[in-house]
Amino acid sequence: MFRRQGSVAGTLESGPSGATEALSLEGVTRTYRRGGPAALAPLRLTLPRGRFLAVMGPSGSGKSTLLQCAAGLDRPSAGTVRIGGVDIGSLKEAALTRLRRERVGFVFQAHNLVPSLSVAENVALPLLLGGEPDDDRVALGLAEVGLGDRGNDRPAELSGGQQQRVAIARALVTRPEVVFADEPTGALDPVTAHGVLALLRQAVDQDGHTVVMVTHDPAAAAWADEALFLADGHVANRLLQPDSEQVHGIMRNLKGASA
Ligand code: ADP
Repeated sequence: MFRRQGSVAGTLESGPSGATEALSLEGVTRTYRRGGPAALAPLRLTLPRGRFLAVMGPSGSGKSTLLQCAAGLDRPSAGTVRIGGVDIGSLKEAALTRLRRERVGFVFQAHNLVPSLSVAENVALPLLLGGEPDDDRVALGLAEVGLGDRGNDRPAELSGGQQQRVAIARALVTRPEVVFADEPTGALDPVTAHGVLALLRQAVDQDGHTVVMVTHDPAAAAWADEALFLADGHVANRLLQPDSEQVHGIMRNLKGASA
């Protein structure tokens, strides 16, 4: 319903650069042990603003490593990661922490809300940590995820799907360059998952957010503009406008190949 039609050709290799580029990885590798295998082989990826990328692959293929390096949670062994044009490898710890807070949003499978804070306070947290409280933005963010009347509740009073909506509102509240979502629907039933994915799609289509979502679910990947498939730390395949049948077929082959 929120799917943008139109061409997304060249998304990864030749997306617009400069001001419209949300995320870029150049030759990014990650090796956990000296002399050990690369969890991520040299990877190149450019993602313009307003794009929704699904990252898929068998267990151990490097999805979390990619997400952590791209989000500035882990430092790559080599290569350059740029978020909104900023080379995050050049930042000292304090500046990197600030960039993560202000220019990156996170949505995890377990939503990581603070149980003792109200729903509105949870959404406000990234703004408060940055010293820029903004009640209007929090209220708007909650309204956008359909929870405008639940701001005073505690997270435990909400359903799992509603809690994940709060996590999305919190991830978007600073209007970040990129939202990284790690299995955001992994703990949800299909109907609730559908609502959460529709919200991510809406954030991309209506507000120009950029989303990178790790998922194992072909139905979830079908909401993205593009699916990137990893195997043994390499890009094994890419699919524009993925549909769940195609995704399912590629995943089956990858799992077969790695078995
Ligand atoms: P995925 O998210 O696709 O399951 P990961 O990125 O977690 O894959 O892992 C990729 C590879 O890197 C795997 O072989 C895994 O065992 C290894 N790996 C991941 N994290 C670490 C770590 N902290 N130390 C050593 N090896 C790791």
